[in-house]
Amino acid sequence: MEERPWLKWYPKEIPHHLQYEEVSLQETLRRTAKKFPDRPAVHFMGKEIPYRKLFESSLKLANYLRKIGLQKGDRVAVMLPNTPQTFISFYGILFAGGIVVQVNPLFTEREIAFQLKDAGAKFIIVLDMLFNRVKNVEKETDLRHIIVTGIKDYLPFPKNLLYPMVQKRQKTVPPKVEHEGRHHLFAEIMKRTEAKDIPDEVNPKEDVAILQYTGGTTGFPKGVMLTHFNLYANAKMCDAWMYKFKEGEGATLGVLPLFHVYGLTTVLVFPVMKGDMAILLPRFDAGEVLKTIDKLKPKVFPGAPTMYIGLLNHPDLGKYDLSSIEICLSGSAPLPVEVQQQFEKLSGGKLVEGYGLTESSPVTHANFLWDNERVKGSIGVPWPDTDAKIVSLSTGETLPPGEIGELAVKGPQVMKGYWNRPEETEQALKDGWLMTGDLGYMDENGYFYIVDRKKDMIIAGGYNIYPREVEEVLYEHPAVKEAVVAGVPDPYRGETVKAYIVLKEGQRVTEEELDRFARKQLAAYKVPRIYEFRDELPKTAVGKILRRQLVEEEKRKLAEK
Ligand code: AMP
Repeated sequence: MEERPWLKWYPKEIPHHLQYEEVSLQETLRRTAKKFPDRPAVHFMGKEIPYRKLFESSLKLANYLRKIGLQKGDRVAVMLPNTPQTFISFYGILFAGGIVVQVNPLFTEREIAFQLKDAGAKFIIVLDMLFNRVKNVEKETDLRHIIVTGIKDYLPFPKNLLYPMVQKRQKTVPPKVEHEGRHHLFAEIMKRTEAKDIPDEVNPKEDVAILQYTGGTTGFPKGVMLTHFNLYANAKMCDAWMYKFKEGEGATLGVLPLFHVYGLTTVLVFPVMKGDMAILLPRFDAGEVLKTIDKLKPKVFPGAPTMYIGLLNHPDLGKYDLSSIEICLSGSAPLPVEVQQQFEKLSGGKLVEGYGLTESSPVTHANFLWDNERVKGSIGVPWPDTDAKIVSLSTGETLPPGEIGELAVKGPQVMKGYWNRPEETEQALKDGWLMTGDLGYMDENGYFYIVDRKKDMIIAGGYNIYPREVEEVLYEHPAVKEAVVAGVPDPYRGETVKAYIVLKEGQRVTEEELDRFARKQLAAYKVPRIYEFRDELPKTAVGKILRRQLVEEEKRKLAEK
């Protein structure tokens, strides 16, 4: 078999191997602030924060954290929606020598307590509206200090853009917190602390920059240890891939949550290294996204398939000028070919599918942005210095092109391991290869395809069914807005195929019609036996549909019968 068949498609501008410096992530901010002090780093709600100010504010926080006792390697949790403070916290913690632990702001007390305890976080930076949730679990954790920030500490913030859950849970005004004892106010820190530079004491290949807890679909949450070098290397690869973009010229729409690895690297790490501006939106709202693109003209829009579906279905789509967008990057879940084609037609930009996971900082594969045809339905080819193979689930041997097995990846972006979980680390990392848990194949040309996740495979009456294939067909039906297919318990077949459907506004369709439609394109055993129509589907923060949750719901219903 030809070695790394994908390399022959690389355009001459993208090297097969890159030069990496051993620098800390905070050094990338230091350099950019020197080079482009007045260029906006962050745009948030009509205001801009230049690189100089981001650098100074991060140093203020870092000096303060040290003053209250932070030691090298201490974990500092950050529980914030997308705001300028998220940037300042991230770089501030790194300047101080700490490790960032991002906590989803939608978490319940139970989830917060679990994560803080697991990470052994001694400090947390939290939005005032979420303060009580942290305070209620403080005693169960190792927390010593809580730093509270109000959205208004930095810039005015329209309430309607807060996460709906935050609003719902916290109807009252934010609690009043005094700047004393174990509690600290971000605004006071910014007012009173000196922005003295702190020399780096980082060993980038060894030192962990972030403990990133993996998304809800991967089972029990675990902290992925990503080093400074892991994240830097992935940003360098991204830079090589986007070789047409010059330094300090770009603007990225930051609507993905920064507390997820995908948002973190595409909005918070890469643009800072490059001197680009991140245009932040605190959450996805299709109307707001369209308006922002029209007004602020970002060039790059990293998103999830469900976001592009949301935009496609927005009634005012045609009213806005989306022509500034050169590249939309779709990751985190399979991008239906139908959605890709429609979106490209309507926006005039490119919608390029990539692939990655928390354990690989995250990107390992992508389609080319400008060169060669994007291969529909493929996640693309491995990035520079990234190796990939498909291995047999039963023997672990490398499989030839066209055969389905588990995708394994190797490269400088692959994690150091799971925090405090040596056994799970051993299972995931085999001779430096990260076992992704995703099922796919490589074609003769070296392009990769994900057919599903290992655990999502449906086995019905002895047949293997890959939900992705069934969903692709359902998405092609003109009335279908979103479709997810899961294997639900069945007394006779073990599992049976069930489809959950969200229809486009004003559309109607019967089960019989969908059944006829699916039967035309799928072998009988793959056709869903059950349909359920819903107004919406459960999703993770980045918009990935939670198939597992639907299966669990079914199991619960059965148990109650
Ligand atoms: P996370 O660690 O939360 O980023 O989730 C990573 C998982 O998302 C991967 O293991 C895949 O199962 C899934 N994923 C990411 N990108 C894609 C894609 N382009 N196609 C299919 N699945 C994807």
